[in-house]
Amino acid sequence: MIIAKTIEETRRQIWQWKAEGLSIGFCPTMGYLHEGHLSLMKASKSENDRTVASLFVNPMQFGPTEDLAKYPRDFERDCRLMEAEGVDMVFAPEPEEMYPEDFCTFVDMTVVSEGLCGRSRPVMFRGVCTVLTKLINVVYPNRMYMGKKDAQQLAVVRRMVRDLNVNLEVVGCPTIREEDGLAKSSRNTYLSEEERVASRVLSRALRLAQDAYAAGEDDAAKLTRIMEDELKSEPMAEVDYIEIVDGLSMQPIEKLREGDLVAMAVRIGTTRLIDNFIAGDPLIPALAK
Ligand code: AMP
Repeated sequence: MIIAKTIEETRRQIWQWKAEGLSIGFCPTMGYLHEGHLSLMKASKSENDRTVASLFVNPMQFGPTEDLAKYPRDFERDCRLMEAEGVDMVFAPEPEEMYPEDFCTFVDMTVVSEGLCGRSRPVMFRGVCTVLTKLINVVYPNRMYMGKKDAQQLAVVRRMVRDLNVNLEVVGCPTIREEDGLAKSSRNTYLSEEERVASRVLSRALRLAQDAYAAGEDDAAKLTRIMEDELKSEPMAEVDYIEIVDGLSMQPIEKLREGDLVAMAVRIGTTRLIDNFIAGDPLIPALAK
């Protein structure tokens, strides 16, 4: 596996592969890899001649009070995992490589990025859109692999790609979960043992809404109440948002239809966790309390 730290050496390799007519799949990550990340790499491996991953904790998408400094990092372990997965090249730049001191250009968005996580994390999607534009301009992938775990991010990126005529296919991959239903996340490492148990309430609440929807309930207010009630039953959980939105525009809806998004952000202690389902997706395997 090639480990590239600079834009120049990454581009040189990419252009060599392009000259050979090889297709390139790209999996952008912030590292501290888990099976969710690895599932993107597996999907890319199965559909492309070469797979490139990036490891970059993007300072631009963290607010001033957020967890940039303590975000978990383990470069050696990440490299071992990617190598075992058959990743061909990892691009792991230092922040200075991506953002020179006089950097002043941004990719911004309205509408799709404004609700849900955009409300409580106002700088995040500008950071995501800007860094992904830069990464795409380094890797020139044919396909880019992203998780449905971050459903709004996926919708934002799909819209950016469409609006700016970015020449690639965005592939959304299913959320990988722990056995008890908790969506895998690098941030799960922040949870104490007690908080880890409490965090099951997210997938449990979503599963209750999924069951209600499967039984014919499509009223967004009623489905929201079902989730709120379940979340209230867990004293350690503090709701940031529960929203039911159109799957493409991320705008609130009154009736849930196939393809729409049911999403939540919940604080367990100081850790903010997100989870969601798309109406029509397979049921979340959530355990009883
Ligand atoms: P991150 O390192 O958190 O920025 O995530 C990098 C990519 O992995 C994003 O496209 C995420 O949506 C995806 N991802 C993170 N967690 C999961 C998961 N549990 N299942 C599937 N994809 C995931």
